[in-house]
Amino acid sequence: MKYKRILLKLSGEALNGGDKSQVINSAILVQFAKEIKKVVDAGCEVAIVIGGGNIYRGASADSGIDRSQGDYMGMLATVINGMAVQSILENNGLQTRLLSAIKMEQIAEPFIRRRAIRHLEKGRVVIFGAGTGNPYFSTDSGGALRANEIEAEVLLKGTNVDGVYDKDPRKNDDAVKYTEITFEDAINKGLKVMDRTAFTLCQENELPIIVFDMNGEGNLLRVVNGEPIGTLVKD
Ligand code: UDP
Repeated sequence: MKYKRILLKLSGEALNGGDKSQVINSAILVQFAKEIKKVVDAGCEVAIVIGGGNIYRGASADSGIDRSQGDYMGMLATVINGMAVQSILENNGLQTRLLSAIKMEQIAEPFIRRRAIRHLEKGRVVIFGAGTGNPYFSTDSGGALRANEIEAEVLLKGTNVDGVYDKDPRKNDDAVKYTEITFEDAINKGLKVMDRTAFTLCQENELPIIVFDMNGEGNLLRVVNGEPIGTLVKD
């Protein structure tokens, strides 16, 4: 196994498969749980950060709701998603802990870095809820932050596209996928891997990012084993 401790970032929309008529598609979550179980059973320590975009995004709101207020609402949305993921993972035989950056003791442990690491060492899947706990950030930034804090070897961005392309592959038949790219080249070419704050945090701390298709069966295990599927972004 190439990576023994990973942080897996999933967007909120991954949980409903892009179908806006539902918040969470439990069939998709069961599929994710099976993929995650494969890597845990292989001995990999797994932490997860989930977005909240399937429920609420603060930044995009033209709703008359203040930015900070909306961002806190978005963070609460990530906890709802975290609870769903926790439940489905446990129903599929995994041990988990949900750690929230905003205190809500009845449903999640408070985020304490050392405790998170201890859970990982014991083979528990750690789900980080409420992003960074601060407005004006995203869960990509939360993922980058937590990945660094727990000394993950890689940040895996599970999406429904199989990597980073030179242009949008859904709109351009001639789009070319990068197997590997440096942080600098990704910036110079204007490629969007994560938002800029998250990207910089990874770059400055030399934390590699792999963008891959989370929906493909066995893909997560392949990535953890170091197979070159997806796109590796590194120094
Ligand atoms: N959010 C925040 N601080 C954080 C993480 C998230 O304020 O550290 C809020 C922000 O409003 C964001 C929303 O939570 O729009 C949902 O997260 P995100 O948009 O990153 O979810 P994703 O796009 O991954 O589903």
